[in-house]
Amino acid sequence: MWRRTEDDSVLDEAGKVIYFSLERFVRDIALGDCCFVCGASSADVPFNNEHVIPEWILRRFALFDRFLTLPNGASTRYDRYTVPCCVGCNDLMGRAIEQPTSALTEGGYDAVQAWCEQHGLLNLYVWVGLLFLKTHLKDRLLRAHLDARKGDVPIAEELQYDWRGLHYLHTLVRCFATGAGIYPDALGSFFIIKVREDASGQAFDYGDLYQAQAVMLRLGDVAFIACFNDGANAGLFLKQKLERITGAVSDAQLRELATELAFLNMHLKNHPNLESHFDLQLERHEMKGTFVLPELNELDYAVRGKFMHYIFRGMFGKLKSYKWSDAEFEAMVVGGQATFLFDDYGAFIKDDTPLP
Ligand SMILES: [Zn+2]
Repeated sequence: MWRRTEDDSVLDEAGKVIYFSLERFVRDIALGDCCFVCGASSADVPFNNEHVIPEWILRRFALFDRFLTLPNGASTRYDRYTVPCCVGCNDLMGRAIEQPTSALTEGGYDAVQAWCEQHGLLNLYVWVGLLFLKTHLKDRLLRAHLDARKGDVPIAEELQYDWRGLHYLHTLVRCFATGAGIYPDALGSFFIIKVREDASGQAFDYGDLYQAQAVMLRLGDVAFIACFNDGANAGLFLKQKLERITGAVSDAQLRELATELAFLNMHLKNHPNLESHFDLQLERHEMKGTFVLPELNELDYAVRGKFMHYIFRGMFGKLKSYKWSDAEFEAMVVGGQATFLFDDYGAFIKDDTPLP
């Protein structure tokens, strides 16, 4: 029989943590250095740590010695970007999540789409959720300012993280290890997007907007955009735009779609409560979301501008427009109305003609 601890966590008979209370999650995982899946300490079990960007992606896209840009603008090498993880959880994650996802995505967009039509989106949702979780667990380990003279406030603190959102996501993505039942209303928005090859030849891309719990990930011609705490309501509004997209999108268009999803999420009138329910006797854990009406507050385009500017931060000066100078173009993005998706007549831009 399962039991509750004083801090409101749930353990099984062997002492394995079925559910981390918010308090335990923050203490042991978000701020501690326990295994991010099971919560074990490296003093008790062997650790081999887990790459934030899985190894098979580093191999497939030759990223081992490449650098990624952190939320503070600093760079770190992909192969050195890891979170604390024990050997047992790493093996389990490899078997249950990483190997199947690696094999599936190798087939590209068509294979992924066909598989999801048959099996649903949960597996990929969990996988993308894990990536987002690992990225932001890592934040607190990295100094916000690499220049020591500026102090050593971790990124997580500097961005004033609210751990509750990550706590919920952590509970959900651990379902591969705990067997928790996930109800569809516990999920946020998730889309599989077809991406076209562009001049840069770049085939891997990752970006997220933590505040809005939105993320995009590109692997070759298939990309995923997701939002974890919106009860799929931001996605409902995004669909109005997606329906007007009549072909594969470019890298910039993909980034815009992720930004749009984040922007919509920030304007939802209500977010669902995402709850864990337990039957200790029957040893069952279920995650459900409460129903909320999909309604938007009045849209503030300054928020869109802020998000767009952040998500395109590495691309200014590279995206060329025949109408505007680099500075004018950047100002337009900040203004919040810039779009890479539709032309002046509202038609989807299908090719790589200079913007906009
Ligand atoms: Zn573990």
